[in-house]
Amino acid sequence: MLNGVRLFYSVFVAFILSCLCIVTGKVWAQYEPAPASYYQHQRLLNEINFTEKSTTYLSGEWLFYPEQLVIQPSTVLIPEVVELPVSFKKLTGKTDTYGSFVGHFKLPKEFVGRRIGIWIPNQYGAYRMYLNGDVIVRVGEVGKNKNEHQTENAPRIAYFIAESEYFTLAIQASSFQNIQGGIENPMRIGLSRTVNRQFQLLMMSIAMVCGAVLGVGIFTLMFSIFRGATGRNTKSIFIFGIFIVFLALHNLFSAPYAYTSFTDIQWPWGIRLEYLFTFMAIILFLTYMYLLNRRYLHLVVYWIAMVLLGLNILITLFNQPHIFEKIAFYSAVYCPVVLINFIRGFYLTLKNNEYYSKLNLWAVILLCATFIHDFLLMLNLIDSVNLVFISTSLYALLIMFQQSRNYAHHTYHIEHLNNELISLNDSLDQKVRQRTAQLVELNHQLEYQAKVDVLTGAYNRRALNDEIQQRFEQICKTKQGLLAFAMMDVDFFKKYNDHYGHLKGDKILSNLVGVMHRVLPEGAFAARYGGEEFAIVINAGSLTEVIACMENLLEEVRKEKYEHIAREDGKPWVTLSMGLSWMTAAQPYSNVLEFMKEADVQLYKVKNAGRDNLSVDI
Ligand code: GH3
Ligand code: MG
Ligand code: MG
Repeated sequence: MLNGVRLFYSVFVAFILSCLCIVTGKVWAQYEPAPASYYQHQRLLNEINFTEKSTTYLSGEWLFYPEQLVIQPSTVLIPEVVELPVSFKKLTGKTDTYGSFVGHFKLPKEFVGRRIGIWIPNQYGAYRMYLNGDVIVRVGEVGKNKNEHQTENAPRIAYFIAESEYFTLAIQASSFQNIQGGIENPMRIGLSRTVNRQFQLLMMSIAMVCGAVLGVGIFTLMFSIFRGATGRNTKSIFIFGIFIVFLALHNLFSAPYAYTSFTDIQWPWGIRLEYLFTFMAIILFLTYMYLLNRRYLHLVVYWIAMVLLGLNILITLFNQPHIFEKIAFYSAVYCPVVLINFIRGFYLTLKNNEYYSKLNLWAVILLCATFIHDFLLMLNLIDSVNLVFISTSLYALLIMFQQSRNYAHHTYHIEHLNNELISLNDSLDQKVRQRTAQLVELNHQLEYQAKVDVLTGAYNRRALNDEIQQRFEQICKTKQGLLAFAMMDVDFFKKYNDHYGHLKGDKILSNLVGVMHRVLPEGAFAARYGGEEFAIVINAGSLTEVIACMENLLEEVRKEKYEHIAREDGKPWVTLSMGLSWMTAAQPYSNVLEFMKEADVQLYKVKNAGRDNLSVDI
C-alpha cells in the first residue's frame, strides 16, 4: 500500500515538475535567444533561388551582433535582425565600429555538392566571411579598434562546396576612420562559374571602357605633340590629352576597383593611387578650363585650387589613407567656389551667344553634377551608387566622338582645299604655258619685224648687215663656195614719184620685192638697202650662176612692164640697175665693207653707162 502511495506521489511530483519545467522553459524562451536550430527552422531561414546560368542577391535577414566578433549564432547574446546591405551608420549611428552578421540559408537541392561562389563587391573597411564556422574569404584586417583594423577596398569572390542544402554564413566587419563602413554593397550568390563569368564580364567591360578612354587620351596627346606648335590652342589640347589619360587611370583605381583584378598592389597604395590620379585629373581638368577661357576659372580661384591640390598630393604621398582621405574630404569644401565660377562662365558664354559646343557644355555640367552626387554619397547623405566612373567615361567618349568628327571635317576641308589648289595650279600652269607660247610667238614676230621692212616686206638694212657679215665669215672659215652681193637702184625713180606720186612709187617698190621673192633661189637674201635701193646676198657654186640669176631678175622686172613714161631715156617701163661684187676663199675682201663698197662702185658704173644693166668685175 505504502509503495503504491509512494509511486503515485512520485508520478504526481514528476508531473508537476514537468509542467513547471515546460512553463518556465516557455517563459524563459521569451527572454533567452533561441538556439540555432530554432532559427533554422523558423523565420530566419533565407531561401536562395538561382539557376545554372543566373545569380541572385545574397540579401535576406541576418542577425547582427554589434561590437561582437562571432562566427555562429550566440546562445547568450541578443542579436538584432537586419537586412543586408546596410551601413554601420544606419545600424548603430556610428561609422567607427565593428560587428558580426550571421545568416542561415537554404540552397536549391540540385546544387548540393556543387561549387558555389559569392561575389562581394568592395565594402568600405575590412571583413571576414565564415561558412559554417570556417573562414572562406578575408579583406583587410578586422579589428576591434583603429589600431587592429586595416581597411582594404577590393571586390572578392568567396568559394565553397555546398555539402548540404543548409548553410550558415557569418560576416565579421569593422570600419575605422572611414567615411563609410559596414556591408554596404549588395553581394550576389550563384554557381561559381556563373559568378565568375559575371564578375569577369564586369571587369572586362570596365577595362574596355578604361582602355577606350586611355586610347582617346593618348590620341589627343599624340595629336597635340605632332601638331608641334606652341600656340595656346595646342597647349590646351595637350593638357586635355593628359587629363583624359589620368581620367582613365582614375577610373581603373576607383570603385569598383577593377585594378585588383590585374595587379596585387597593396591596398594603401591602391587608395593612394586612386587619390593621386583623382587629384591629377582635377588639376588637368581645371587647367584645361583655365586655358580655354579665363572666364570659366578666375586666376585666383585657379591658383588656390592648384595649391590645395598640390598640398593634397604631397599629403597623400607621405601619409596613411585615413589622414589623406580626411584632408581630401575637407578640401572638397572649395568645390562650390570652382563650381560657382564655372556656372558664371557658362552663363556668360550662353548669354553672349558665344561659340561653345552646347553638347560639351551640358557634358561638363553633368560631370560636375555627378561629382557632387558622389560626394553626397560619400557623406552618406543619399542612398545611391557611384556615378563618376560612368559620367567621366561617357565624357571621354563624347570627346572622342567630337574630336574624331572635328578631325574628319578638318581633314575633309583640307583635302577639299588641296584639290582646289591643285586644280587652280593646273589651270595656272595651263595659263602660264599659253602665255609663254603667246610671248614666244610675239617675240618671233618682234624679231621678224625688227628684221623686215614694213613697206616692202624685204629684210631691212640691219638684217642685211648681220646676214652679210655671217656669210662673209662663213666663206672665210669654210673656204668653200662663192658669195655674191648685188646693189640695185630703181632707174629714174625720182621722176616716177614726180609723175605718178609717192603712193604709186611705194607700190612699185613693194611689187619689185615681190618679183625678187618669186625669181630668186631659196638661199638668196633680199633686203631694202634704203630709199629705192635694194641688195641681195647670195651663195652660189660659180660667178656665172650668179650672173645668170641676177640677169634673170633684171629681165623679170622688165617683163613686169611697170609703166614709167617719165624717164629721161625714153624707155616706157620701170627698170633696175645692178652692181655686183663677189668673193671666194681664193679671192677674198679684207672686210665686209670693202666687199659691199665694190658692189656700190659697180652700180655707179651702170648708172653712168646708161642704166638698166648689170655691172661686175670678173
Ligand atoms: P637714178 O636713175 O640716177 O637713180 O635717178 P633717180 O631719180 O632714181 O635718183 P635719185 O637718187 O636722185 O632719186 C631717188 C628718189 O627715190 C628720190 C625719192 O623721191 C625716191 N624715193 C626714195 N625712197 C622712196 C620711197 O620710199 N617711196 C617713194 N615713193 N619714193 C622714194
Ligand atoms: Mg638712188
Ligand atoms: Mg634711182
